[in-house]
Amino acid sequence: MAGGFGRTERGAAPGVRARAGVGDANGQQEGPAARTARVQHRLSDRGSADPLPHGAEKVFAEKGVDVRLRAKAARVEVDGGRVRGVTMADGELIPADAVIVAVPAWDVGGLLEHVPGTEKIAAATQKLVPIPIMSVNLYLDRPIGTTHPWETLLESDVHWVFDRTVMHGKRSSAGHLYALTTCASYDLIELRAPEVIERCMASLRSIYPLAEDARVVHAHVVPWRKATFSSRPGTGTIRPDQRTAVEGLALAGDWTRNDWPTTMEGAAQSAARAVDALRTIS
Ligand SMILES: Cc1cc2nc3c(=O)[nH]c(=O)nc-3n(C[C@H](O)[C@H](O)[C@H](O)COP(=O)(O)OP(=O)(O)OC[C@H]3O[C@@H](n4cnc5c(N)ncnc54)[C@H](O)[C@@H]3O)c2cc1C
Repeated sequence: MAGGFGRTERGAAPGVRARAGVGDANGQQEGPAARTARVQHRLSDRGSADPLPHGAEKVFAEKGVDVRLRAKAARVEVDGGRVRGVTMADGELIPADAVIVAVPAWDVGGLLEHVPGTEKIAAATQKLVPIPIMSVNLYLDRPIGTTHPWETLLESDVHWVFDRTVMHGKRSSAGHLYALTTCASYDLIELRAPEVIERCMASLRSIYPLAEDARVVHAHVVPWRKATFSSRPGTGTIRPDQRTAVEGLALAGDWTRNDWPTTMEGAAQSAARAVDALRTIS
């Protein structure tokens, strides 16, 4: 994990002016879970020619897993206290005796709202407080003098500067690519894209002398209003367990109960726990 992300809330700005490089970032199926319908598409699906992680396609093929990309689930079907399948947004019903709902808290709504026994889950999705993250992919006509592949800026509109050109090992024809990230970006998230770019450039210029004359060739502003949730005191009592009151239905996702705040590690741990919860269904 690229440390510290998502930890700050409104007004909790970092207190020291400094720039620092950082060195760390993140056979047959058994039992009824074999027919688990895990219906979700992933962030990396968007526009990628090879959306599955390296090797995953082979493993899925070996295990007979049918992966559907860009497929939206509309509701989980439950009857007599146990799960029966998932109805997709296009109306198709996928029968299943085990379902893991692995969508963000803010998207659980319609999937489960008609399902008796999921009231606590619905309450949790209402109580968790979202935190925005602002990301900007910035193509400049020159490098600005970062010394590490990614750097942290304190007391700045930009919190992280990732030198994507160095990280990818080649320069794009569009220019030198930096990916900028600002956590708890309550301020930037309300601005229009040109203003966000202006503010980010002003931050870079205040820290990197070589940014002074840099020209923006292209910029892509990616505002995430509900990027993560606030890990304020009491959140641990709100986050729901992966095991639900409905036979064959489990939850996964960084927002469900796990040992981490809102992180990829927490999402992975919750997924393992969700699978464990389904191993015991009859
Ligand atoms: C800008 C940004 C930077 C981050 N940086 C870090 C970091 O440095 N380190 C870190 O550990 N974490 C980071 N995170 C958090 C990390 O991405 C999440 O904690 C993690 O991705 C959560 O995984 P998840 O599986 O719970 O949910 P997600 O990764 O959000 O996956 C849920 C998926 O469900 C899909 N979905 C929603 N509704 C439906 C539906 N009805 N039908 C089908 N699919 C649906 C969504 O499209 C999404 O692809 C960052 C997040 C953001 C937004």
